[in-house]
Amino acid sequence: MKKLTCHCGAIEAEVKIPIGGVEKIMRCNCSICKKKGYIIGVLGPDDFKLTKGEDKLTLYQFYTNTAKHYFCSICGIHTHNRPRSNPKIYGVNIACIEGVEPFEIEDVPVNDGKNHPLDQKQ
Ligand SMILES: [Zn+2]
Repeated sequence: MKKLTCHCGAIEAEVKIPIGGVEKIMRCNCSICKKKGYIIGVLGPDDFKLTKGEDKLTLYQFYTNTAKHYFCSICGIHTHNRPRSNPKIYGVNIACIEGVEPFEIEDVPVNDGKNHPLDQKQ
C-alpha cells in the first residue's frame, strides 16, 4: 500500500500498486484531462481506499455526468476520478502517490478520450 495525498494533506488515500510503480499509466486528450495535464494511473476497483478527508473532496461532473472527477476543496489538487468507460475502476493522479516521480517517466501513452467510445454512433 502506498499513500496518496493532495497538496495540503486534507485528502489521503491508500493505493495498491505493484512494486516499481503503477502498471497502467496514460495521459488523456479529453477536454478535462487535457487541461489538467496530469498522468493517470489506472487502478482496479479494490486498489483505492479513501482514508481521510471525504468531506473535503469536491466532485466535478459534466456532459453525461457519468465520470466523477474529484479534487481537494482546499488546495485544488485533482486526486482521482471514476472513469466513464468503467465507473468501477479508479484513475489516480500519479503525482499524488508517495515516491512516484512523474517527470522521470518517459513515453506515456495518450488515451484518445476526445473520441470517447461511448460517443461513437453505432
Ligand atoms: Zn488539499
